[in-house]
Amino acid sequence: MRNGSIPGSSGRVRPMRLLGDPGLGTPCEDVTDFGDGLAQLVEDMFATMYAAAGVGLAANQIGVPLRVFVYDCPDDEDRRHLGHLVNPRLIEADGVTVRGPEGCLSVPGIEAGTPRFDRAVVEGFTLDGAPARVTGTGFFARCLQHECDHLDGGLYLDHVTGLRRRRALRAVRRAPWAGRTEEQPEPARTA
Ligand SMILES: [Zn+2]
Repeated sequence: MRNGSIPGSSGRVRPMRLLGDPGLGTPCEDVTDFGDGLAQLVEDMFATMYAAAGVGLAANQIGVPLRVFVYDCPDDEDRRHLGHLVNPRLIEADGVTVRGPEGCLSVPGIEAGTPRFDRAVVEGFTLDGAPARVTGTGFFARCLQHECDHLDGGLYLDHVTGLRRRRALRAVRRAPWAGRTEEQPEPARTA
């Protein structure tokens, strides 16, 4: 994301960690080193998110236990929100609660109706260490809450209850990747 370049264009697509990976269930640590390694991590996260056609990605989804997420996500008015946050904290989540379809790159092929607040405010830093505050509504608010959950060691399925939860967990058990928690092979590098 430097010099106006396309986010992720100098990043490497990393293997996605899937449900069952212990790193997804462990709270991430705050970033303390805002050096070049952090810029490269953000680039790799954008590259990985775009390769998987996602709208958001948390660092522990690629096995890095740090509080960082990236997003390129529309809201309900089709406004595009593009960016990253380091050491984010969800400081406000309010408005009506909306149940809407939600999925996760770490739980591929599965969606479940998940209740989320319609508005969310997250504060953190950019990779240069500048304070940043991001406000989202609608689907983008859902994305912000989803990514904050990841960094706290949670998953959207934690919010799914009742029949929807039983259905989703059954689909997880039957998924082709079920029980495959070992690291996936590195994807081949292509242009
Ligand atoms: Zn997710």
